[in-house]
Amino acid sequence: MKPLVLVVEDEVPIITLLRYNLEREGFKVVDARDGEEAIMLAQEHRPDLVILDWMLPLLSGIEVCRRLRRLNGGGNLPIIMLTARGEEADKVRGLNAGADDYVTKPFSPSELMARVRAVLRRTKPGNDAEQLSCEDLVMDLVAHRVKRAGRDIHLGPTEFRLLRHFLEHPGRVFSREQLLDSVWGADVYVEPRTVDVHIRRLRKAINADGERDLIRTVRSAGYSLDPHAVAMV
Ligand code: CA
Repeated sequence: MKPLVLVVEDEVPIITLLRYNLEREGFKVVDARDGEEAIMLAQEHRPDLVILDWMLPLLSGIEVCRRLRRLNGGGNLPIIMLTARGEEADKVRGLNAGADDYVTKPFSPSELMARVRAVLRRTKPGNDAEQLSCEDLVMDLVAHRVKRAGRDIHLGPTEFRLLRHFLEHPGRVFSREQLLDSVWGADVYVEPRTVDVHIRRLRKAINADGERDLIRTVRSAGYSLDPHAVAMV
């Protein structure tokens, strides 16, 4: 079955351009012209990926992104934000709202297609894999074991779940609140600071002396598994 991409954009020429390129790459496309329609179509069609414009009528792309994340199954939905705003602060806001990647207009269609493929590669295979890895770190989900460079790593249950979450979404930046929701569960009340404590423990456990830190701290945004590491797998 062809993967389905939901394009959310109010400018018709851009929809036409994206549709042409996506269909040529073997995707099916549905499009929404505003945020409300986007949420409705996402619920109805369950797309495999969303390309989401920042500047939209009614609801901003950021708000749409947040709402998509809250939908049933929306936590793992790959989202690429498209925007004319190239500021670093905007990028952080976009990633913080839950976007997986960020492309600045004007974009080259071939670059965007490469990003689409990369995001799908990153987000898809993890879901039912028996093993997750990043560089020399390997998590065996069946045996519930973690190794780095061949040595056993002992993790507490929270660190294990935290690491699994990062490995399933390499390169994506998660805020403390998002990590609390996904790793601890939305119904548990834990201070956001607690996340820092567990990140520290996780880092201590997986990074031996001289090894590269696989966890990246993104200022004012949160944490991610280092995307450079992912590119080298
Ligand atoms: Ca627009």
